Amino acid sequence: MADTFNLTDRIALVTGGNGGIGLGMARGLGEAGATIIIAGRNEEKSAAALRELQSAGVRAESLPCDVTDEAAVQRLFAQVRERHGRLDILVNNAGATVRKAPQDFTLDEWNGVMDVNLTSVFLCARAAHPLMVQAGAGKIINIASILSIFGAPYAPAYCASKGGIVQFTKSLAIAWAKDRIQVNAVLPGWIDTELTVGARAQVAGLNERVLARTPAGRWGTPQDLAGIAVFLASAASDFVTGAAIPVDGGYSVS
Ligand code: NDP
Repeated sequence: MADTFNLTDRIALVTGGNGGIGLGMARGLGEAGATIIIAGRNEEKSAAALRELQSAGVRAESLPCDVTDEAAVQRLFAQVRERHGRLDILVNNAGATVRKAPQDFTLDEWNGVMDVNLTSVFLCARAAHPLMVQAGAGKIINIASILSIFGAPYAPAYCASKGGIVQFTKSLAIAWAKDRIQVNAVLPGWIDTELTVGARAQVAGLNERVLARTPAGRWGTPQDLAGIAVFLASAASDFVTGAAIPVDGGYSVS
């Protein structure tokens, strides 16, 4: 059974893998044997993330990319092809939010959230498809959110984009099953990262509400997402596709 989770010889690309949940998953995938490519925008963060991965014994490199830019995404996947000749695992993790009431959103703010959270998933999955077809199989892991299910008054575009990821995941799963590509969504609960530090600062009482409503009684950590990433990237999940899996300490059932 241990071999089922072994990712040796697999190439994994993690968007936004230079921090937070993406880095937690990158580390888990790398420790399971995969070669990791992290793709983010901030060079300092990427350099620090690479040092962390490499000091944990993970084979890793960084290819800078703004995943909202179609041409940049095409260049990123062309580089992956040139350097590795294949791609086995894609984690669409990059994400962001704008916190304000729906009536106060500008169109640019709305489009900005949609571009980074949802359109990037389309751009990266589309660019990954030929590489995975060529490899004869593939695993795509789309990071949605428990806000794919629940609404939040201060995050309308975020909720819409994350709900969209779940539906897009189902469509990809059906379309690409014949190519032996499994596509699944992960719905993290409240995880302690830069993203939620911002939310805690802006939303009064959030910390207390999260603790009270999460049966596990704590915030999640990026490491809490490593196991699900390894499972969904490995042969252990070959018959799992189109799923939306909460990793939330029980928040969504409480
Ligand atoms: P962070 O803010 O810590 O990380 C977000 C990452 O996305 C950063 O590494 C950032 O890299 C990258 N990123 C943002 N915009 C772009 C872009 N245009 N191009 C490339 N990379 C980009 O947040 P989290 O780790 O918390 O979030 C990771 C994912 O998990 C997101 O999709 C988020 O929505 C989701 N999520 C998080 C939850 C939480 O409680 N934290 C709960 C549910 C879902 P850079 O700085 O280099 O741009």
